[in-house]
Amino acid sequence: MAPPAARQPLSVVVLGGGTVGAQVVRLLTEQADDLAARVGARLEVTGVGVRDVTRDRPGIPSALLTDDLQALLDSSPDIVVELMGGIEPARELVLRALKGGASVVTANKALIATEGAALHAAAAEAGVDLSYEAAVAGAIPLLRPLRESLAGDRIRRVLGIVNGTTNYILSQMDATGASFDEALAGAQALGYAEADPTADVDGHDAAAKAAILASLAFHTRVTQDDVDVQGIRQVGADDVLAAREMGFDIKLLAIAERLDEPDGVSVRVHPTLVPRTHPLAGVRDAFNAVFVEAESAGQVMFYGRGAGGRPTASAVLGDVVASARNRVTGSSEPGESSYADLPVLPVGAATTAAFVHLRVRDRPGVLAAVAGVFAEHGASIRSLTQKGEGEAAELLILTHPGRDADLAATVDQLRHLEVVDTVLAAMRVIGEGR
Ligand code: NAP
Repeated sequence: MAPPAARQPLSVVVLGGGTVGAQVVRLLTEQADDLAARVGARLEVTGVGVRDVTRDRPGIPSALLTDDLQALLDSSPDIVVELMGGIEPARELVLRALKGGASVVTANKALIATEGAALHAAAAEAGVDLSYEAAVAGAIPLLRPLRESLAGDRIRRVLGIVNGTTNYILSQMDATGASFDEALAGAQALGYAEADPTADVDGHDAAAKAAILASLAFHTRVTQDDVDVQGIRQVGADDVLAAREMGFDIKLLAIAERLDEPDGVSVRVHPTLVPRTHPLAGVRDAFNAVFVEAESAGQVMFYGRGAGGRPTASAVLGDVVASARNRVTGSSEPGESSYADLPVLPVGAATTAAFVHLRVRDRPGVLAAVAGVFAEHGASIRSLTQKGEGEAAELLILTHPGRDADLAATVDQLRHLEVVDTVLAAMRVIGEGR
């Protein structure tokens, strides 16, 4: 093989020069010699597309900046790195780049979780790569291991803490007793949460990542719209305290699970009680972790930084190097694998345990009435603890795993039960077994 200097350089266009884009350009420049040796050709950044070319951007030479993104694509680059975010115009630009014969690297989870099938088809037709390691859990090498290292296994379940903002908020609530609003304000002051925190705290960001994880894990197309989502706004300081007293942490989990009865996959995002002994409970602050259960490999956990310009740029560069090597050797990344084509089942089909926290009225027969509702729906109580007495009496109930729909019906009926004053919380629980 010819030494790197003897080969034509590969041209790289970066769309977006923000938090991640600036770090990608900086690393491509600073590490140019090492990258050339690893790829077998030099990687030359030929342009960086932004909205505002007048802004000073440390790490990006101003001569590279342009707001004419179409012109960047007209230059027929070898690799296009999309780091703009959002659906449009990112979708249209990525599609054009692929059709024009460029390999595309993106960190855009929303784009892949909604338009992944069309983009994969365009990449396959053009014989180029489409890769997005940075789109889920930032710096953590996760998608490539799922797609390649575990390609010979059967994945049963993926449990992920994939949103650093919500994990930081929940960790703060646990550590300090703060309310959700107080912890959110603290996260915003530190830059861990955006001024508009909706995408994070309402679970939409995690849902996009859950869709991508489920698609890879189960060889099935799953889009963001398929994911049942519940965020963390309703989690109160009292819930965190009650969970802790019972030996649990509350985490916002993205769950992708293979079900046999009925046959299909369940993909959901919701606050979940995680036993303090579970490895995911130790994942605190803005860190991410993904716990994979596979038939042969058993349990595997991936842990690290899920966001931040430099960590995310590391994952982007890994994809750039892989695509560049493929161009040098004339090979390509594996494309989309959706052969299993499993149905995506409603959340009610999943098997889960539940934690139900009730404030009850001071009446004789309260326990029997409450237990009767659980029994009516076939939901089996694992433990029941009473706190306080009289008008302040509360019941903390943990169930055994059961059908999610039955547990939901139980909670619904409890809300209307005469002896129940308020359903303070109803959350799903993962245990050692499930
Ligand atoms: P960002 O700081 O907001 O940067 C976005 C960049 O794209 C800016 O330079 C912006 O230009 C440019 N841009 C946006 N719309 C454009 C348009 N219509 N025309 C031209 N330029 C446009 O975003 P980021 O945090 O770097 O995130 C980039 C991508 O990485 C997103 O998909 C995000 O979800 C993903 N990601 C980010 C992180 C993270 O920690 N930040 C982690 C994982 C994944 P101006 O600067 O001129 O406005």
